[in-house]
Formats: sequence, C-alpha cells, structure tokens
Amino acid sequence: MTEQTEFSVLCSFFTWTQRSKSSAQKRSKFRKFLDTFCKDRNYLSAIRLILPNLDRERGSYGLKESVLATSLIDALGMSRESEDALRLINWRKGGAKTGANAGNFALVAAEVLQRRQGLASGRLTIRELNEFLDKLASSENRTEKTSVLSTLIQKTNAQEMKWIIMIILKDLKLGISEKSIFHELHPDAEDLFNVTCDLKLVCEKLKDRNQRHKRQDIEVGKAVRPQLAKRVGSASEAWKKLHGKEVVVECKFDGDRIQIHKNGTNIHFFSRNFLDHSEYQHGMSDIILQNILVDRCILDGEMLVWDKSLNRFAEFGSNQEIAKAARDGLDSDRLLCYVAFDILYVGDTSVIHQTLKERHELLCKVVRPLKGSLEILIPNGGLNSNCPSGEPCWSFIAHNVDEVERFFKESIENRDEGIVLKDLGSKWEPSDRSGKWMKLKPEYIHAGSDLDALIIGGYYGSGRRGGEVAQFLVGLAERPSPIAHPRRFISFCRVGTGLSDDELDALVTKLKPYFRKYEYPKKRPPSFYQVTNHSKERPDVWIESPDKSIILSITSDIRTIDSEVFAAPYSLRFPRIDRVRYDKPWYECLDVQSFIELVHSSNGT
Ligand code: ATP
Repeated sequence: MTEQTEFSVLCSFFTWTQRSKSSAQKRSKFRKFLDTFCKDRNYLSAIRLILPNLDRERGSYGLKESVLATSLIDALGMSRESEDALRLINWRKGGAKTGANAGNFALVAAEVLQRRQGLASGRLTIRELNEFLDKLASSENRTEKTSVLSTLIQKTNAQEMKWIIMIILKDLKLGISEKSIFHELHPDAEDLFNVTCDLKLVCEKLKDRNQRHKRQDIEVGKAVRPQLAKRVGSASEAWKKLHGKEVVVECKFDGDRIQIHKNGTNIHFFSRNFLDHSEYQHGMSDIILQNILVDRCILDGEMLVWDKSLNRFAEFGSNQEIAKAARDGLDSDRLLCYVAFDILYVGDTSVIHQTLKERHELLCKVVRPLKGSLEILIPNGGLNSNCPSGEPCWSFIAHNVDEVERFFKESIENRDEGIVLKDLGSKWEPSDRSGKWMKLKPEYIHAGSDLDALIIGGYYGSGRRGGEVAQFLVGLAERPSPIAHPRRFISFCRVGTGLSDDELDALVTKLKPYFRKYEYPKKRPPSFYQVTNHSKERPDVWIESPDKSIILSITSDIRTIDSEVFAAPYSLRFPRIDRVRYDKPWYECLDVQSFIELVHSSNGT
C-alpha cells in the first residue's frame, strides 16, 4: 500500500509541511500521512524519502549541485549556453529572474523545469521513485545518471521533480525536525536509530507504536551517532558550566571524526554521517591489528595526517589524498594518523555507561600508541608539566580557568581549531549535545582587504626558527590627506601564525635587507612609527622605512581587544596572517580611523 501510493501525495505533504508554521500541526499531519498511506506499515519506502540524509540502503548518488546542473541540462536537451542552462550552472548567483531563488538549487531547477514540463502529475508511485533512485545511485557514469533523470522528468511535473532534486541533495528543508519524524513513527525510533544508524532496521523493528522497544546498546559493526560538543563563548563560561566537576581539556583536532569498529580482522571506519570510509583500510588496518590489543572494540577519535618531516599534524584537508597514496603504495612524509580520544566497546561489552575517566584507563590498556600513526588522547596530569620539552601538549586536567584560557590561547597560536572541555565523570551518550563536552573555538572574521596592515617590525623565533624573524609587528596608517601617502604608522598587533614555512621564508628573505636592529633604549625606533613603551612592542628588528615594507591581510577572532600594549586603541584577539599582499603597495595600508569605524560598526569591542 505504501509503495502504491503516488509520490504526488508525499509532495503535497512536503509542500504543506514546508508552509505550515506550527510544529504541532506538522507532526499531526505526518502522523495522518502514516496512518492513511502506510497502513501496511511498510514505513521504510516513505521514510527514506522523508529523511534522505539518514538512508544508507542506497549508495551515494555522486550528484552535488554542479554535476546535477549539467546532468539536468543534458537530460532536458538544453544547450549549455542557453539562458536556463546558465541559470542552473550559476544557481548560487541567480539572474534577473532567479533573484529570489538564488542559492537554492531545487528552486532554480523548478523554475527552469516549469517552462518545460506539463502541470499534470506523472502519477509516479513511491515504489517506482525508489527504484529510479536505486538506479541513479548504482549507475556508474554521468550518461547513465542523465538517462535516469530524463525518465524521471518525463514521469513527473516540475513540483514533483523539485522534491526529487531535494531528495537527491538529501535536504528537504521541511522545517520539521528529524526528532519529530522519529517520534511520530515510534517513541523509541530515535533511540534505536542513534545506536544503529540503520533506518531499515528501525522501520522494520518498530512497526507497532504501542509496543515499546527495550533500549538497545551499541554493537560492534553498527555505526553509532557520536557524542557531540556544545559550543561556548569563552573559557570562563565553560568553566562555570562545569563547576565542581573534574574536567579534562583537550586540543580540538581538525580532521575527520571516525569511529573504528574492530571485530577480529574485520575493521570499519565510520564517519559522523555513518558512512564506512573503507579508503582508510590501506593506511591503517595493519597498524590497528598490531596495536589494538583486544579482539573486539569500538574507538572514537579523529583521523588526521601526520607530517613526519615537520613533526606535526598537517592542516585539514589531505586525508583523502594520503589515503589514496597509501592505497597506491606511494612513499610519503605524510601518513594517516588516528587520534583515539574515547573507547566505547571492549570485548563483549559496551563501556559507554562508564565514566570518561574509566574509559581513559581502558583506552590505555587497549591501544598501544604508535608515534605519528596511532595516538591516544589522555590527560597528562598538569598543563604541559609532563610533556617532554618541545612536544606539544594535547590534553590535561584543568584546575582553574586560567589554565584553560592559557591552553586555548596556545592552541590558537598553534593554529589548532580550538579546545574541547569534558566532564571526566560523564558517560558517552549517542547524539548528545547537552554539555558534557564543550567546545571553544575562535570565531574568525575573514577580513578580506579590510584588515590590511603594514609590517613595521620583526621578532626572532625560537626552536626551529631561532635566529630568524618568525613574527611581525604590524601597524596601521595615520590617515593621510587624500592626495598624500601616509607618513606615520601606529603599532597595532603582533602576528606570527597563518603562513606556511615556505611562505614565511619567502617573506623574511624579501624583507631582510631592510631589517634594522633595535637597540633600546639607546636608539628610538624609526620616526615613522608610533609605539608605546610596552615591552611586547619592542621588536627585535625594525623595517628601515615603510616604503620598503609589505602589507599583510590579517584575520582574527571577531572580538577585538582594547589595546594597552600597542599604540592603536584596539588590537586583535588571536590574529592570524591570511595572506601576504605582495600585490598591494605599502601606502594602501588600512588607516587607524577606518579600523576604529570598522570595530564600531561590527560592534566588535
Ligand atoms: P565542528 O564543526 O566544531 O567540528 P561538529 O558539529 O562537527 O562541529 P561538535 O560535536 O560540535 O561537532 O564538535 C566536536 C567535534 O570536534 C567532533 O565531531 C570531532 O570531529 C572534533 N574533535 C576534535 N578533537 C576532539 C576531541 N579532543 N574531542 C572531541 N571531539 C573532537
């Protein structure tokens, strides 16, 4: 019966739900839909169209907006140069006509389709649509996909096709939460889905709303929805919320959240969206088999790339490339590295009900760390105290808010994503974001050309960059008359992070001929520069004169800080170099007045 229901019925439900404002009404409409059209309780065929992002029965369509645009253009037999084709390709921008729909691919597509499809419904059934979608997912190339889309276009009208496109893009924008859908389906549906990530199993097991289902624990081999972190605005806010608790503070690594499920020699790598990332098998399986000391377990952690030559984690974004290199047996300085920060299952038992502290102990017993390939994240007992010198510290038990602040600041300077605070007494709960874990991240503004400051001095680095300039003092211009170049620069902030080693080397090489040693207090800084007497503002070298210098585009946390250290009235919190503006002449540096206006207009104080 569900399968014989026409898709147009579901479309009417979608359209009504999207328009309705009341969530109670949306829920009761959905209930009515189930009662009327799914009397046979074959819920899966409908639910997978309503919650397409949770459906793992079908593989991926491999159709994001841009490919979908060209496939639709071909399916409709349009010229790629036609106005409508360009409208689809440039769906983000919109044109004169698409203005209102710009940015919403399905609406732009519906507009284009409307001019080509009849108004009458094609009477496609839910079963037929699911079959076509299966075909779309399993077709190997774009020609096959285009042909499926072309058949779908013949069997639908523009409204129906719009919803199909949204199903393919896995976002219906119905304004009804997944929670509500699950709740109307069955009171235990959400819980069961959270621990199995299996929509089919949920729909098959929970056919009778009146029969409660015993809470199910997690299982090896079935992805579980991850424990999440609640965002907080400051270290003190997090500290207050965790008052009285024993708190571990960890670095927030910027990689892929991955659950490793090991069952004997069978290993799965489930992502946050419960996709099994088999590409990680090549680089990681042997390491796991050799260094995980139990037969069955589930680890929770982050998949990253470790750069052996730089002795640090590579920036986000190279996981796939390195996984491919491992598959092809290519030699590289960069290797996949899994950082396990939690353990959810050991042997035959789920351990999510134990405290985090107990789970850390288990993690130590189960995983034998292998430098740069398999790491465990457990607290070392005090801020940097037990970390071997030169090694970054990634986790510690905090005793006061100052330690948290300091760690946060260090993590930003290290270009990490932020920090995570966790209650050591808490259990691990699927899909929970109630605050057992809290994340603190800087909010970067992308300043574009707005925050272009001039380098006026340099500071020597330490360690690897000892004896070389590694940080800069940058200044803003005193507003010149409209026809003149600025003559004075007001010190503004100190910035060191954001550039790769190569970029920094190139910049320092360019500036080196103009570095002048600063012999304080004997010698005043060059008269072009206005500074305070604060020690932080005494760079090791000055740039001889501003016209020899280079502009840096700076991004920073959106909050600026009142500056006591620098001569400008405000400075930046967690500044970071976005790029070096070799293309911009020195005199086009931002002036102090404009910066102050920028701060006031963004209310960024
Ligand atoms: P974000 O974009 O901030 O990562 P999110 O919604 O993906 O947000 P959250 O639950 O809000 O995820 O933040 C936790 C995420 O941070 C995890 O999914 C994981 O990928 C990542 N992470 C990095 N380091 C840690 C850590 N030490 N502990 C927990 N999560 C960590």
